[in-house]
Amino acid sequence: MAVNYVDLLVLGLAIASIGVLGFLVYFHNPQSATNRAFLGFSTLSSVWGVLNYISTQVESPELSIWMWRLVIFAAVWFCFGIYHLARIFPKEQPVYGRSYTLLVLPAVSFVSLLTLTPLVFEKLKSVPVQGTIPAIQNGPLIGLFGLAVIVLVSAAVYKFVHCLFHSTGNLRKQYGLIAAGTLVTFTLLITFNFILPTGFKILTFIPFGAVFILPFVACTGYAIARYRLFNTRVVITEIFSFVIVIATLLQLVLSSSTLELMLRGAVFILVLIFDILLIKRTVSEVQSRELIEKQEKELEVTNSRLRELDKQKTEFLSYASHQLRTPLTAIKWSAAAILDKTYGDVPKNLSEPLRTIYSESALMAVFINDYLNVTRIEQGKMEYRFVPVNLCSVLVEAEKELRGSIEGKGLSLNVQCDEDRVMVWADPDKLTQVFTNLIDNAVKYTPKGTITLALKKDTRESRVLVEIADTGIGMDEATRQKIFSKFIRGENAIALNSAGSGLGLFIVKTFVEAHKGTVRIESSGLGKGSRFIIELPLLVQLGTK
Ligand code: ADP
Repeated sequence: MAVNYVDLLVLGLAIASIGVLGFLVYFHNPQSATNRAFLGFSTLSSVWGVLNYISTQVESPELSIWMWRLVIFAAVWFCFGIYHLARIFPKEQPVYGRSYTLLVLPAVSFVSLLTLTPLVFEKLKSVPVQGTIPAIQNGPLIGLFGLAVIVLVSAAVYKFVHCLFHSTGNLRKQYGLIAAGTLVTFTLLITFNFILPTGFKILTFIPFGAVFILPFVACTGYAIARYRLFNTRVVITEIFSFVIVIATLLQLVLSSSTLELMLRGAVFILVLIFDILLIKRTVSEVQSRELIEKQEKELEVTNSRLRELDKQKTEFLSYASHQLRTPLTAIKWSAAAILDKTYGDVPKNLSEPLRTIYSESALMAVFINDYLNVTRIEQGKMEYRFVPVNLCSVLVEAEKELRGSIEGKGLSLNVQCDEDRVMVWADPDKLTQVFTNLIDNAVKYTPKGTITLALKKDTRESRVLVEIADTGIGMDEATRQKIFSKFIRGENAIALNSAGSGLGLFIVKTFVEAHKGTVRIESSGLGKGSRFIIELPLLVQLGTK
């Protein structure tokens, strides 16, 4: 049997391309009913293309009639493949109506089985000649076969064209592509498989059915999977695979013996499988990268929205605190002035409520100050005025300010400070706030016992350590871990003193760190007291002296 190598090469490439396209689209999204329908359709096209070609090469009359029956058997399913694809596209989930399962499927199966009997192709009228179609005596049911083909293909074309005119946007573009592919394929099939053979007796192009189907498969494949198959990395892989396929195909068609043909055929199939897997892998890698990129973008959008909301919240808090501060100060000082008898004697029954007004507005002023500090920190607007500062004086000031409340609560104070001059580079107001806050906490959270203030200079390390320790309620390990974050309050603290913003330690830490220092807390546990240790660099270390 003499083989026309060019024909075989062209046909082999067309069939391989149809097969590869089918798998590519399928791997692109194996769950999609459309992609599965496309794989089914492209496989049927390839099978039909192969059978069609082989039938034109067979010279034995017995085998030839059977091969042609197989061709029309495959043709029925091929037409069904187009019909099914047209029904499903572009759905992800399959929809099988009753007419489909009760009428179309049984009818197609019945007609396809008929094609294998002499009722459709009865017998050969002429001896088969290689490369052409022999004359065939049609059976009585040939019309049924023709009807099935026409109905299935017309239904598919109608669906595509109808949807093309009734869809919009991307879907319309997809239908446009499919319609273009259909048009090219039909023009080719009608020209080469109908007009030329019947009008001009040119039968040379009959074996190339698969080549004519390729435009439809390519356009539909692209319409389904779109851009993904055409990503640069995937395209490079596809070109690489294509070159290997052509090389192995060339080897195959140039085989000089049947054994060689079989061996090279096996190699060709293996290469084809390898290529499909390679492209599948590349597509899925590209997909996961795209997914990650998409998620990153979404995350970025969410983050920037959150940042914006956070900013708005901070601005609102800052504005509200500013607005509240002035009237509150007025309330506080007015209450203080009345209690100090600036406006004359205070009736006995009013002094208690007035004291409440004073203490509550004072507490509120502290909260508002905390909020203002936090908003300034978060907006990056906190200003520091650094100057050389004697830490001992700051500590003494803070201690003086709180001595009243320490004694008022019956606590004893133990101050351990051997030095009277420890210079640091600091903002005195901020340092005062740090110590006041810590001593105030020690008083608040110590029902009885002692508060110790200690200052230790470590000249070797050029650092100074300030400790504020108490014998109060202490804290558990879990609370200790997160105590310097905003709005964190220990349960024991809430039980003892319900009023508290939970912002003081956050501000303390921020201020200390702005001074290039550190703050930490030690506590042996609940009820076992707490010890706050602040370390600051001595002025000498900073080289500013
Ligand atoms: P607030 O005192 O307003 O609650 P802070 O930020 O100053 O806010 O303190 C946060 C929490 O840290 C307190 O609620 C308390 O649980 C704990 N805490 C702070 N200082 C002490 C201390 N000296 N002893 C025990 N717990 C403390």
